[in-house]
Amino acid sequence: MAGLPEPVQDLITALERLPGIGPKTASRLAFYLLRAPEDISTGLAEALFALKRNTSFCPVCFNITLAGQPMCEICADLERDESSLCVVEEPLDVLVLERLGVYKGRYHVLHGVLSPIEGIGPDDLKIRPLLERVKTGKIKEVILATNPSMEGDATALYLRQQMLPYGVRTTRLARGLPVGGDLEYADQNTLLRALSGRQEMS
Ligand SMILES: [Zn+2]
Repeated sequence: MAGLPEPVQDLITALERLPGIGPKTASRLAFYLLRAPEDISTGLAEALFALKRNTSFCPVCFNITLAGQPMCEICADLERDESSLCVVEEPLDVLVLERLGVYKGRYHVLHGVLSPIEGIGPDDLKIRPLLERVKTGKIKEVILATNPSMEGDATALYLRQQMLPYGVRTTRLARGLPVGGDLEYADQNTLLRALSGRQEMS
């Protein structure tokens, strides 16, 4: 039986490696691109190249920043409160919180949550650099704004334990966020309430 031409198969294999894309979706996308006008596939290819070439992660907070910048805009902004640190799972969460326009502290992006089932432990996340930041003593409050999911809660609890020796105040976003949901799907009012009503972790 004749197989698919190699370029088609290569694309399907590459797409299948993306999260949430199974073999069926991968084939559907590959055949779509095969039939679509060329500017769609070249546009996609160029965007993919530019993604890695033109961006990097901020060495301080691990948010996304433009390549060649020593740190991200938020870390570089001296007006922002150095004594408050908001810990989030993904760079997208920074964007969501920034849109509220009320938080004037700094961020730290973990790049995931602890998940024993998926084999994700503390060393797979940006936890060590977070503790290094806390150790400097400049930070007075750490807002643990991981998602209100089982993993998000467990990660917040773990981080609180790790921070105990440094005498920093740890707070968690108030309940009211949809349980199991992501911050990015919460509406602005709910998120505002959760942030302003954040509670001391005990
Ligand atoms: Zn930064």
